[in-house]
Amino acid sequence: MGELVYLDHAATTPLDGRVRAAMQPYLDEKYGNPSSMHAAGREARTAVEAARAEVAQLLGARPEEIVFTGSGTEADNLALRGAVACFADPCHVVTSAFEHPAVLETCRHLETRGVEVTYLPIDGEGIVQPQALRAALRPDTRLVSIMAANNVVGTIQPVAELAEIAHRHGALFHTDAVQAVGKMPLDVTRTHIDLLSLSAHKLHGPKGVGALYVRTGVNLEPIVHGGGQEGGLRSATENVAGIVGLGCAARLARDEMGAESARLVGLRDRIETGIAETIDNAYRIGHPYMRLPGHLCYGFSGQEGEAIKLLLALDEAGIAVSSGSACSSHNAGEPSYVLTAMGLDTIRARGSLRVTLGRFTSDDDVDRLLAVLPEAVRSLNPIASHAGFGVRA
Ligand code: PLP
Repeated sequence: MGELVYLDHAATTPLDGRVRAAMQPYLDEKYGNPSSMHAAGREARTAVEAARAEVAQLLGARPEEIVFTGSGTEADNLALRGAVACFADPCHVVTSAFEHPAVLETCRHLETRGVEVTYLPIDGEGIVQPQALRAALRPDTRLVSIMAANNVVGTIQPVAELAEIAHRHGALFHTDAVQAVGKMPLDVTRTHIDLLSLSAHKLHGPKGVGALYVRTGVNLEPIVHGGGQEGGLRSATENVAGIVGLGCAARLARDEMGAESARLVGLRDRIETGIAETIDNAYRIGHPYMRLPGHLCYGFSGQEGEAIKLLLALDEAGIAVSSGSACSSHNAGEPSYVLTAMGLDTIRARGSLRVTLGRFTSDDDVDRLLAVLPEAVRSLNPIASHAGFGVRA
């Protein structure tokens, strides 16, 4: 088997060598605790603050509005649980039915504490429609949380419009932008976004570090108590190397986003054309253009139940893709709640192929995928291909 063709960047991304180089000194000789007053501590503090400024700049935020966390999941928890804890009375929260579990499960937890939650429907193309939000708002709605881009189908949500609707109603607006940050422009000053979660490992940074943007004036209760780091919102000695890595990843994303998105769209279009030319029963899932530049999601009609086999056949050929979300590998084969929320029937919702590209994806990688995929689809279900499905010669 040749080198791995890694096409699962929505699950995680490889560390950029420049990020690794920036982190290295903070794993070795620069090991001070940023809370220490001596020179080693001050050196670590300076690095943490420089990273905070980089993350802020990527989002159009002020550095003091960035809180470092241990993950995107933790940022989501802090946003939702932290905001709800500050509301005096039991309240109503609106989210969407196809959020990542980091938001959905936090909402379910809030429901056990007396919070009422509405899960907005998703349209057939994977978009939360603004009118659905308008219809769901109630006098006691205090918080709306809608993701910026979906992790399974890659569709981009109209967050600026959704945030404006929430604001006009007097509710806070949170967006889980873990998939979107670094891949599309997001500017918190030009929108009404109050809270925004991100995660370093989705933008060629290290795992185990994330951040929450908290608009000045928005009150949150901490969910981790202790020594008062991160303005009291996230106690714990800072993961200095991880934070430095996130800062570097944010700077690279900002500098390279324009050219990189165009490159990824080019690769993605090649894959789409290749699939359309060689696989008759392939259908794209999700909006044709309101989606992340390097994100593709496909179904193969008549063969949806075979999605895991397809994934394993590609894996055998040295190509890493996903059949949905990496977070759901333990319930592989079950209908995807994301696709079900989009209105796909249970058969279609069982089978999808997610191909997600990243900074190091090359033309050769695309060639390898296109050389292997048609045959892998054909091998799944020869009977279906005889019936007119399957692969064009
Ligand atoms: N939100 C979305 C949309 C994601 O895709 C993910 C990761 O897959 C997360 C949250 C969780 O981020 P982390 O892995 O940093 O906890």
